[in-house]
Amino acid sequence: PNIIELKNINKTYGSKTSNPTQVLFDLNLSFEEHTFNSIIGQSGSGKSTLLNILGTLDKATSGDVFINGTNTQEMKKNELSMLRNETIGFIFQFHYLLPEFTALENVLLPYRISKRPITKEVQDRAIELLEIVGLTKVKDNLSINMSGGQQQRVAIARSLINNPKIILADEPTGNLDSDTTEQVYELLREINKKYKTTFIIITHDRHIAEKADRIIEIKDGRINFDIKKSNNES
Ligand code: ADP
Ligand code: ADP
Repeated sequence: PNIIELKNINKTYGSKTSNPTQVLFDLNLSFEEHTFNSIIGQSGSGKSTLLNILGTLDKATSGDVFINGTNTQEMKKNELSMLRNETIGFIFQFHYLLPEFTALENVLLPYRISKRPITKEVQDRAIELLEIVGLTKVKDNLSINMSGGQQQRVAIARSLINNPKIILADEPTGNLDSDTTEQVYELLREINKKYKTTFIIITHDRHIAEKADRIIEIKDGRINFDIKKSNNES
């Protein structure tokens, strides 16, 4: 079954009075559960806009976004926020970690932001996630003192704290060297297999894109190609 579906998505920035720019054109896309998808394309082609719409962080100008079968177009802000908390994890290139907070505190950040209580159970889950990403020893270190690869692992652990069905990642390996890129990719794949999490990642890294189950290229706000591998194992 499809976990996310986009129907006839158009996106225009600006209004009629302030020179509008259309950046997405009638996109139709659906993503199957448990798959690992990559989105590629030149800078400015509309990838981040697309990802933000997929994650309901931004609204399409027209068209429908279905998440887990629910049409999100008419949902209110607080309903969307709840849906995100229950369904979607985000990973961004520049982490958005709080530098003066520890790794553990950063993993728990989504709970603080949405003012949910940090119970013993939640705390234990955060510690377990830090173990999965290989950061047990440095869980109490300030993130400012961590390497880029370690910080990205913290961001990955944080994206999992809500047990998301979907992880949306914008250049998750964008500022990492090639060895660390490979390690982070392997980690994401492991999570994809272990938790059956659906991944949609924007990447400039050809090797990463080619290892995905599916490669979608966006060009000038349209799908240029969309290749699905017949074999899901890689
Ligand atoms: P990509 O992620 O592929 O680099 P983006 O989705 O960031 O592409 O941007 C697509 C186009 O939309 C670009 O021309 C960009 O300048 C424009 N754009 C992105 N965000 C905004 C915004 N908030 N307001 C106006 N234009 C924007
Ligand atoms: P709430 O309204 O409940 O505070 P938000 O709408 O701010 O929630 O975000 C919901 C989820 O999306 C959070 O878990 C947060 O980590 C993630 N998120 C939203 N925007 C961003 C962003 N710009 N960078 C990183 N994570 C984000």
